Amino acid sequence: MAEHDLVVIGAGPGGYVAAIRAAQLGLDVACVEKEPKLGGTCLRVGCIPSKAMLESSELYHAARNSFSDHGIRAEVALDLSQMLRRKSRIVDELTGGIKQLFRKNKITRYEGHGRLAGPGKVIVSKVHGQEELEARHIIIATGSQVSTLPGVTMDWDRIGGSTEALSYPEVPKHLVVIGAGVIGLELGSVWLRLGARVTVVEYMDRILPGMDEKIGARAFAVFRRQGFNFKMGCKVTGARVSGSGCVVHIDGQEPLECDRVLVAVGRKPYTDKLGLDTVGISLDERGRIPTDAHFKAAEGVYAIGDVIAGPMLAHKAEDEGIACVEGIVTGFGHVNYDVIPSVVYTDPEVAWVGKTEEQLRKDGVPYNSGSFPFGANGRARALGQTDGMVKILAHKETDRVLGVHMVGPRVSELIAEVATAMEFGASAEDIARTCHAHPTLAEVIKEAALDVHGRPIHR
Ligand code: FAD
Ligand code: NAD
Repeated sequence: MAEHDLVVIGAGPGGYVAAIRAAQLGLDVACVEKEPKLGGTCLRVGCIPSKAMLESSELYHAARNSFSDHGIRAEVALDLSQMLRRKSRIVDELTGGIKQLFRKNKITRYEGHGRLAGPGKVIVSKVHGQEELEARHIIIATGSQVSTLPGVTMDWDRIGGSTEALSYPEVPKHLVVIGAGVIGLELGSVWLRLGARVTVVEYMDRILPGMDEKIGARAFAVFRRQGFNFKMGCKVTGARVSGSGCVVHIDGQEPLECDRVLVAVGRKPYTDKLGLDTVGISLDERGRIPTDAHFKAAEGVYAIGDVIAGPMLAHKAEDEGIACVEGIVTGFGHVNYDVIPSVVYTDPEVAWVGKTEEQLRKDGVPYNSGSFPFGANGRARALGQTDGMVKILAHKETDRVLGVHMVGPRVSELIAEVATAMEFGASAEDIARTCHAHPTLAEVIKEAALDVHGRPIHR
């Protein structure tokens, strides 16, 4: 039986980051991962391959549609196989990078399915046989898996989830996406740009539920203009493969015929055959592992990332991994859940951090709001990407920034400025008085901060 100070189950962004931080802090660390590649959903079939496909498809779309406006004439043809190979190469490079980091930090890697077998014990089931591990501390970082819908018969090919939609071997003529959330809009964008007709069927009457309503409405208008066909407020009652295509049934409407279906109605925690009962852990009503504020789920057992409550985001999982391990070793660990940025990597991108206007109204918090459009920004004009705006919400009395919401070019990068400002407790005045380089997209943030006090310069 092998002994370690810490055994981490799962090598996604939560697990591998926790393992590295624990090794930095001097623990003897092991990580159990059932897949041959390290990096979890995020690196293998999530954040990274989706962003690779988003970048490639955006370039293809720009080459066909906006290069001519820049005075560039080009003959453009799609080589989907090369696009998919490039995506796989990026995944291989990054997952290989985690392997190197494990080596560098002397983390022992066990390949196989890990399960708890009582306090301080983990059994790893391998292709051949099994191995028993003992550890003072165990971190569960087993992530999440795609949620399915009753009546929708998944064949994990024509009717599949995000993993399948990252690798369609041909551009679908008609793709039906169920769910207008982050995955539906990102992967829907990929195939729309590559030439598919894309119909998005959404249960609610708005896209990206939970985000600021005004910004959501602005994004919705742009996505419609791009050619997305949205069916809002529609309940999917079933879907099945039919001949060489698929049929999707919607309550009270004609069935939709298409050649592929992407089911993107959320993800659920992954706790299959984890032996949680052997340490007295019961799941909550949404299948998540309940923990205390220090990620403790049972004596000596901790859980982080998608498998616990909170947004299912890679950076949230990473920060929890670090806070959990620092808590174990030093007694102190901290995640500021009020300042976790969210980004949707569509074109234009959507990003936000902190409270929405609806939340502030509901909580009775007095606030001022300032906004500024990208259309009035020189850099956005030079880029030819003028759709969108930045909105800043600040406390009416203290001027402290409580939430920032953006739709526009490269806001995935711009959101870091305001997240940092919020982490330091900045006021809108602080941002307005910070010198921003010209001409940059970030000047829109400064102008929105000036607008909180009714004094934007360029509008
Ligand atoms: P995971 O990354 O899911 O890792 C868990 C790992 O544990 C997996 O490798 C799994 O194989 C392993 N495992 C599970 N059970 C066992 C077991 N019993 N034994 C051994 N190993 C086990 N988030 C963002 O922040 N930005 C994005 O742009 C983004 N894009 C996404 C795009 C897609 C298509 C998808 C599906 C998700 C995306 N996400 C994104 C979400 C992000 O991938 C997750 O929030 C993140 O991966 C969660 O990290 P984790 O470590 O908790 O779990
Ligand atoms: P999601 O929760 O973002 O969106 C699911 C959508 O499906 C919602 O709009 C919901 O109303 C809708 N829906 C639910 N049931 C439905 C039904 N029966 N019919 C029609 N619509 C229905 O989930 P997702 O897009 O699957 O993404 C899963 C998780 O992955 C998210 O929590 C997200 O945090 C993470 N993710 C993040 C990123 C990113 O950070 N850029 C990218 C991809 C995924």
